[in-house]
Amino acid sequence: MESLASQSDSRASLLSLEPENLPGQGYRRGQIAAWLYDKGTTDWEGMTDLPKALRGELAQQYRVSEFAQVQPFESKDGSVKYLYTLLDGKQTEAVYMPYAGRKTICISSMVGCPAGCTFCATGKMGFGRNLTAAEILDQILFAAHHQGHSPRELRNVVLMGMGEPLLNLEQVLMAIRRMLHPQGLAMSPRRVTLSTVGIPRGIYRLAEEDLEVRLALSLHAPDDETRQKIIPTAHRYSIAEIMEAVRHYYSQTGRRVTLEYTMLKGINDHEWQAKSLAQHLEGLSAHINLIPWNPWEGAPHQGTSREGIMKFAAILERQGLPVSVRWSRGRDVGAACGQLALKQPA
Ligand code: SF4
Repeated sequence: MESLASQSDSRASLLSLEPENLPGQGYRRGQIAAWLYDKGTTDWEGMTDLPKALRGELAQQYRVSEFAQVQPFESKDGSVKYLYTLLDGKQTEAVYMPYAGRKTICISSMVGCPAGCTFCATGKMGFGRNLTAAEILDQILFAAHHQGHSPRELRNVVLMGMGEPLLNLEQVLMAIRRMLHPQGLAMSPRRVTLSTVGIPRGIYRLAEEDLEVRLALSLHAPDDETRQKIIPTAHRYSIAEIMEAVRHYYSQTGRRVTLEYTMLKGINDHEWQAKSLAQHLEGLSAHINLIPWNPWEGAPHQGTSREGIMKFAAILERQGLPVSVRWSRGRDVGAACGQLALKQPA
């Protein structure tokens, strides 16, 4: 457990500022930006090439960290779940995955989530609040610092943790711009993925922003009836409306879209559903990620068997669609897809 700031910290947030608006003049401002985004420093004392008097002065006005405490939980497979306690005492989570030289972090955009997906532990928690851009970014900065490398060494950032990013769009866009900013994390947009349950107005807005990040759509069912059973808020938009928005995003950005599909036994894993899914994707450059369902206590579902998943994948492949199965990481610490719910591992 690392303690970073007191919950009553009322100083201004340094991470809420664009690199060009950081305190100090040109050279000093550049030094502070480098300490935050390149070296991943989480406190003023660590910024050792700033004069001590200046550090003291700035420390009185600005906080560097958005967290009161952070607790890391390491999985046997190398992934690490970070449990962040925010300055108002609420909590959120991120998962760091260091596999095959591709350091990836899955971050949250909210405390809890309003979508209420029945197969997701976060959905059961309900909605807490939106995160600020600073809180979204700090998940990345802290994890890289804790892992002992520059935040710029992260290969992928995925907004796929707690929350629906398109329902917190202003703060999410601000955070993404900082990820792409040359004095921020300096990432290529194709290394940033935003995952949505399908909010058409948010998808159109994202296309207008011209950020060219990758879009992942959590479809989970090819027909409205099944989808509404497992995503209670899905009745607001039909699959046809969502797919129209996704096609628009693809036509504007040229970015291949990923479709996320959690495999639930007897619910969305029928042969006809694989065929129907393929029909939705005609003429669209898309990649399908089949996600074996990860169990959590009290969940109302069972996962499709490995054999069933492979059969479903084969049907899609026969239709000429690229498919991968995302075998889970971090199950033992509740860090796998759909398991995030602030519960501390046993
Ligand atoms: S799967 Fe995603 S959208 Fe659905 S409840 Fe969980 S975090 Fe929210």
